[in-house]
Amino acid sequence: MKAVVFLALILLGGGCRSIKKPAGPPDYVVRMEVTGYCDCQQCTGWKRSFWKLGAPVYASGPQKGKRKKVGQTASGTQARKGTIAADTRHLPMGTRLYVPGYGMGIVEDRGGAIKGKRLDLFFPSHKEALEWGRQWVDVQIWR
Ligand SMILES: [Zn+2]
Repeated sequence: MKAVVFLALILLGGGCRSIKKPAGPPDYVVRMEVTGYCDCQQCTGWKRSFWKLGAPVYASGPQKGKRKKVGQTASGTQARKGTIAADTRHLPMGTRLYVPGYGMGIVEDRGGAIKGKRLDLFFPSHKEALEWGRQWVDVQIWR
Protein backbone atom coordinates (compact mmCIF):
# COMPACT_ATOMS: atom_id res chain seq x y z
CA MET A 1 0.00 0.00 0.00
CA LYS A 2 2.88 2.32 0.82
CA ALA A 3 4.32 1.73 -2.65
CA VAL A 4 1.03 2.73 -4.26
CA VAL A 5 0.94 6.06 -2.44
CA PHE A 6 4.57 6.65 -3.30
CA LEU A 7 3.94 5.97 -7.00
CA ALA A 8 0.86 8.15 -7.00
CA LEU A 9 2.86 11.04 -5.59
CA ILE A 10 5.60 10.70 -8.19
CA LEU A 11 3.18 10.45 -11.06
CA LEU A 12 0.66 13.02 -9.91
CA GLY A 13 -0.25 15.19 -12.87
CA GLY A 14 1.21 12.67 -15.29
CA GLY A 15 -1.70 12.79 -17.71
CA CYS A 16 -1.85 15.55 -20.28
CA ARG A 17 -5.60 15.58 -20.79
CA SER A 18 -7.46 17.55 -18.19
CA ILE A 19 -9.20 14.72 -16.42
CA LYS A 20 -9.27 15.81 -12.84
CA LYS A 21 -8.28 13.32 -10.24
CA PRO A 22 -11.24 13.15 -7.86
CA ALA A 23 -10.64 14.80 -4.51
CA GLY A 24 -11.86 11.84 -2.52
CA PRO A 25 -10.10 8.53 -2.14
CA PRO A 26 -10.81 5.85 -4.75
CA ASP A 27 -13.67 3.44 -4.12
CA TYR A 28 -11.49 0.51 -5.10
CA VAL A 29 -7.87 -0.26 -5.76
CA VAL A 30 -7.56 -3.33 -7.96
CA ARG A 31 -4.44 -4.96 -9.34
CA MET A 32 -5.07 -5.29 -13.06
CA GLU A 33 -3.26 -6.46 -16.16
CA VAL A 34 -2.82 -3.36 -18.26
CA THR A 35 -1.73 -3.20 -21.88
CA GLY A 36 -1.16 -0.28 -24.22
CA TYR A 37 -2.54 0.31 -27.69
CA CYS A 38 -2.72 3.00 -30.35
CA ASP A 39 -4.58 3.56 -33.59
CA CYS A 40 -2.05 1.84 -35.82
CA GLN A 41 -2.71 -1.20 -37.97
CA GLN A 42 -0.51 -3.34 -35.75
CA CYS A 43 -2.39 -2.57 -32.57
CA THR A 44 -5.85 -2.77 -34.07
CA GLY A 45 -4.81 -5.64 -36.34
CA TRP A 46 -3.66 -8.15 -33.78
CA LYS A 47 -6.62 -7.46 -31.60
CA ARG A 48 -9.15 -7.95 -34.36
CA SER A 49 -7.37 -10.38 -36.64
CA PHE A 50 -9.91 -13.07 -35.79
CA TRP A 51 -12.63 -11.25 -37.65
CA LYS A 52 -13.11 -12.95 -41.00
CA LEU A 53 -13.38 -9.74 -42.94
CA GLY A 54 -10.27 -8.36 -41.33
CA ALA A 55 -12.06 -5.10 -40.74
CA PRO A 56 -12.44 -3.70 -37.26
CA VAL A 57 -15.95 -4.26 -35.97
CA TYR A 58 -17.71 -3.72 -32.69
CA ALA A 59 -17.18 -6.73 -30.46
CA SER A 60 -20.26 -6.19 -28.34
CA GLY A 61 -23.21 -3.98 -27.63
CA PRO A 62 -25.95 -2.74 -29.93
CA GLN A 63 -23.47 -2.14 -32.74
CA LYS A 64 -22.10 -5.69 -32.56
CA GLY A 65 -20.67 -6.89 -35.84
CA LYS A 66 -20.88 -3.48 -37.47
CA ARG A 67 -17.79 -1.91 -38.88
CA LYS A 68 -15.87 0.06 -36.32
CA LYS A 69 -14.17 3.24 -37.40
CA VAL A 70 -10.53 3.05 -36.50
CA GLY A 71 -9.78 5.52 -33.78
CA GLN A 72 -13.37 5.72 -32.69
CA THR A 73 -14.25 4.23 -29.34
CA ALA A 74 -17.23 2.02 -28.61
CA SER A 75 -18.85 4.97 -26.86
CA GLY A 76 -18.55 7.05 -30.04
CA THR A 77 -15.80 9.40 -28.93
CA GLN A 78 -12.44 9.78 -30.60
CA ALA A 79 -9.73 7.77 -28.86
CA ARG A 80 -7.14 10.00 -27.20
CA LYS A 81 -4.78 9.99 -24.27
CA GLY A 82 -6.88 9.07 -21.27
CA THR A 83 -9.14 6.74 -23.25
CA ILE A 84 -9.25 3.38 -21.51
CA ALA A 85 -10.80 0.18 -22.79
CA ALA A 86 -12.24 -2.01 -20.04
CA ASP A 87 -14.64 -4.84 -19.45
CA THR A 88 -17.73 -2.63 -19.28
CA ARG A 89 -19.70 -5.30 -17.41
CA HIS A 90 -17.47 -4.48 -14.45
CA LEU A 91 -16.40 -0.93 -15.24
CA PRO A 92 -19.16 0.94 -17.09
CA MET A 93 -18.46 3.66 -19.65
CA GLY A 94 -17.50 6.87 -17.91
CA THR A 95 -15.80 5.22 -14.95
CA ARG A 96 -12.79 7.26 -13.83
CA LEU A 97 -9.58 5.38 -13.25
CA TYR A 98 -6.13 6.33 -12.11
CA VAL A 99 -3.44 4.13 -13.59
CA PRO A 100 -0.01 4.64 -12.00
CA GLY A 101 2.44 5.47 -14.77
CA TYR A 102 -0.31 6.61 -17.14
CA GLY A 103 -2.45 9.03 -15.20
CA MET A 104 -6.17 9.64 -15.08
CA GLY A 105 -8.33 8.00 -17.66
CA ILE A 106 -11.97 7.34 -18.43
CA VAL A 107 -13.54 4.12 -19.62
CA GLU A 108 -14.65 4.98 -23.16
CA ASP A 109 -14.01 1.76 -25.02
CA ARG A 110 -14.11 -1.99 -24.78
CA GLY A 111 -12.69 -4.90 -26.68
CA GLY A 112 -13.23 -8.58 -27.25
CA ALA A 113 -10.02 -9.44 -25.42
CA ILE A 114 -10.67 -7.05 -22.55
CA LYS A 115 -12.26 -9.27 -19.93
CA GLY A 116 -12.22 -9.17 -16.16
CA LYS A 117 -9.21 -7.53 -14.58
CA ARG A 118 -7.87 -6.22 -17.88
CA LEU A 119 -7.43 -2.70 -19.17
CA ASP A 120 -6.16 -1.33 -22.45
CA LEU A 121 -4.72 2.18 -22.41
CA PHE A 122 -4.79 4.40 -25.46
CA PHE A 123 -1.50 6.05 -26.40
CA PRO A 124 -1.11 8.67 -29.14
CA SER A 125 1.84 6.82 -30.68
CA HIS A 126 2.80 3.21 -31.22
CA LYS A 127 6.16 3.83 -29.57
CA GLU A 128 4.48 4.87 -26.33
CA ALA A 129 2.09 1.91 -26.49
CA LEU A 130 5.06 -0.43 -26.95
CA GLU A 131 6.95 1.21 -24.12
CA TRP A 132 4.04 0.53 -21.82
CA GLY A 133 3.75 -3.03 -23.05
CA ARG A 134 1.99 -5.14 -20.45
CA GLN A 135 2.08 -4.34 -16.77
CA TRP A 136 0.30 -5.36 -13.60
CA VAL A 137 -0.52 -2.21 -11.67
CA ASP A 138 -2.76 -1.18 -8.79
CA VAL A 139 -5.53 0.73 -10.54
CA GLN A 140 -7.55 3.23 -8.54
CA ILE A 141 -11.24 3.25 -9.37
CA TRP A 142 -13.87 5.89 -8.69
CA ARG A 143 -17.43 4.80 -9.34
ZN1 LIG B 1 0.20 0.77 -32.38
